[in-house]
Amino acid sequence: MTNEQAIKLDSEYMIQSYGRNPAAISHGSGASMYSLDGKKYIDFTSGIGVNCLGYADPDWVSAVSAQLGEIAHMSNYFVSPKTAILAQRLVELSSMKRVFMSNSGAEANEGAIKTARKYSRDKYGEGRSTIITLINSFHGRTVTTLAATGQESFHKDFGPFTEGFKYSPLNDVEALEAAATSDVCAVMAEVVQGEGGVFPMTAEFAAALQSLCTDRDILLIFDEVQCGIGRTGKMFAWQHFDSVKPDIMTLAKGLGGGLPIGAFIVGEKCEYTIGKGQHGSTFGGNPVAAAGANVVLDKVSSPGFLDEVTEKGRYIANAIKSMNIPYLKQVRSLGMMIGAELVSPSEGGAAAAAFAGLALQKGLLLLTAGSNTVRLLPPLTISTDEIEEGLRIFKATALSMI
Ligand SMILES: *Cc1c(COP(=O)(O)O)cnc(C)c1O
Repeated sequence: MTNEQAIKLDSEYMIQSYGRNPAAISHGSGASMYSLDGKKYIDFTSGIGVNCLGYADPDWVSAVSAQLGEIAHMSNYFVSPKTAILAQRLVELSSMKRVFMSNSGAEANEGAIKTARKYSRDKYGEGRSTIITLINSFHGRTVTTLAATGQESFHKDFGPFTEGFKYSPLNDVEALEAAATSDVCAVMAEVVQGEGGVFPMTAEFAAALQSLCTDRDILLIFDEVQCGIGRTGKMFAWQHFDSVKPDIMTLAKGLGGGLPIGAFIVGEKCEYTIGKGQHGSTFGGNPVAAAGANVVLDKVSSPGFLDEVTEKGRYIANAIKSMNIPYLKQVRSLGMMIGAELVSPSEGGAAAAAFAGLALQKGLLLLTAGSNTVRLLPPLTISTDEIEEGLRIFKATALSMI
């Protein structure tokens, strides 16, 4: 099949919910992806934070292939050994208590929301089910996680939405305290907002959030779907803070290294909140996805790996800053989660989507976040050569847009 034939099929038969790029992908290797017409793309996106080991990592491929040959699926009424090992490792890495496996980030967040509400109902009764989320956040595409997402643009067309969410600005302690009324059972937040524009939470805000939650028995939920699994240079982004630890954490994207898997992990408070029959998922914790995730955790927790993520992230962020792009407003980053905010087109700058579109033509994959931010989430294993090649294209793109 040719690139054009595949694109034509997609446009005729798929619901057109994505603004897709004009490239049908045949395969990938390292941090490079290839289209059916043989064009090579350097990937600074990891398929939106998923392919943290790049493409076709040999250890990952062999673990996943071996599992496929043994058993691809069993119902959740049986124990999956690979999944049980994965749960143990997640608990050990987070110093939390128990894991529920799902298939995606939105589902992991749904589970976290259910757990938080049930914890509060069990302990305090009705009337304490509100969850504070942050303005500019992103928590998923289901009806409930859209409601949780603190961006107005997501709150139309699909109502009625799930009730019981209110929104407060990131890094604004006063507003958070005002929002934390007696009906609140939890605060759910990304440690680094991803889709919203790569905005990291400050240590001061995290500390205030932690003490507010502890004082009032409000559950602290961190959505680490995008910023977790080594992305920011720590296994979990909240580990950048001293004395901050969530009651519930959600994971997905990078966890499976390319296979669909999500998880929510609970600490002591919610260890027994969800009982038999109260939550479930047919595919959740699938052994093939778990086999892939175990390889991801092996590599990301191996000695020196996270230091390299930190170094590579810093190198890329500094390289972009030193390109002297006249319409570059600010570079925000934590590890390999990097946002380059551009001056808006109305003020003489450039639109992030136009920037990413031009980079694609030149062979570099970039994401956007918000309307003005170019977002970079390179594979954590990206080589120095691939970084240099990507940065060369980034610079050429920037210069050709002046
Ligand atoms: C991508 C994302 C989600 C949703 O994950 P899906 O797997 O697409 O359901 C939720 N939260 C954050 C922070 C994300 O980046």
